[in-house]
Amino acid sequence: MTAVTILGATGTIGTNTLAVIRQHRPRYKVFALTANTAVDALYELCLEWSPRYAVMADENAAEQLRQQLKPINTDIEVLWGSAGLCQVASAAEVGIVMAAIVGAAGLLPALAAARAGKRVLLANKESLVMSGQVFMNAVRDNHACLLPIDSEHNAIFQCLQGADQSSISRILLTASGGPFRRYSAAALEQVTPAQACAHPNWVMGRKISVDSASLMNKGLEVIEACWLFDTTPDRVEVVVHPESVVHSLVGYVDGSVLAQLGNPDMRTPIAYKPLDLKAVAQLNFEEADTVRFPCLRLAYEAMLAGGTTTTILNAANEVAVAAFLAERLRFTQIPRLIEDTLAHLAGREADSLAVILEDDARARQIAEEAILQLNAPRH
Ligand code: NAD
Ligand code: MG
Repeated sequence: MTAVTILGATGTIGTNTLAVIRQHRPRYKVFALTANTAVDALYELCLEWSPRYAVMADENAAEQLRQQLKPINTDIEVLWGSAGLCQVASAAEVGIVMAAIVGAAGLLPALAAARAGKRVLLANKESLVMSGQVFMNAVRDNHACLLPIDSEHNAIFQCLQGADQSSISRILLTASGGPFRRYSAAALEQVTPAQACAHPNWVMGRKISVDSASLMNKGLEVIEACWLFDTTPDRVEVVVHPESVVHSLVGYVDGSVLAQLGNPDMRTPIAYKPLDLKAVAQLNFEEADTVRFPCLRLAYEAMLAGGTTTTILNAANEVAVAAFLAERLRFTQIPRLIEDTLAHLAGREADSLAVILEDDARARQIAEEAILQLNAPRH
């Protein structure tokens, strides 16, 4: 029986992961479950799974969960904060860590799992975008096993089939195009958070839904692909494919292209589910439009610039998306805010975690200040 820690157990990926474990119950044991502030949701999961540990993001939420668990007299230990997350991600008993916290909050526990040599199922792509070199070094030096839980990267993983680097010419990442694929530049000025979160093919958390709508998600995935498959952005192409059935492709030097197809369902990369091609009937492909969706261009440029430039890109994007969701920023201001932040803070060599965390914090501060200025009353 393998013990599993699920970081971000109450989220979309966390819920899907538990659904898969439910189907394979005798093989896996839930060691730890974590959540941000959703005390009631984590309490319900504790009742079902009786983990050894439950972790909340802050002390307050942890105390609430402890009080809720008291009457049922369990020996579930409740921890909190980054230290608690890192503890359950690296504990000796754990074999597999599902890293499914959204955003920068997921970096330290995912890195702790890599440093402890775990089998890391990485959904939290932001951690690779923030700290690619440091993260990959930790995986290599500690003999961790890194498995991407992103349908595209999972697909590439399958299309590569252990092929030699020299036989690969390019990686083709498919993108659904998101809910605003057909919107004019003028219409994009007016879109709301609710519209951005209504993705045509995938059910996802709010942050990644906005990223999908702006194509930043694909930009983050280009960066993720460069680290995972040891390649450069000029060898990663994005193709818009509205059906989301072809999950990604690999081009070989002999001109052949291998594709992986499947249902648009996150349980496919976590486990497997059959595909009916006759029901799909048609597959369409088109070029990504980086004029209406500049976030994709910004991500490519950041990866080319290297170092902490992608850390800054990620931080500014997180601030911008949170502000858009809070209706403090328009959708089309998201790329503008990121571009301004990148113009104010130059990336540097990302040779340590300290440097990465410092640039992450500085970028957030710059982006926050820029939003305050945008929203300041004009005379
Ligand atoms: P979600 O918003 O549904 O869930 C996020 C989880 O993280 C929740 O359990 C939440 O409690 C926890 N969390 C949030 N902020 C936290 C904080 N500050 N500290 C501790 N815990 C915190 O998000 P999701 O859609 O499940 O996505 C999770 C990650 O997986 C993201 O990085 C996303 O890019 C990636 N991903 C998601 C999908 C998908 O289909 N949903 C696909 C590929 C990759
Ligand atoms: Mg994806």
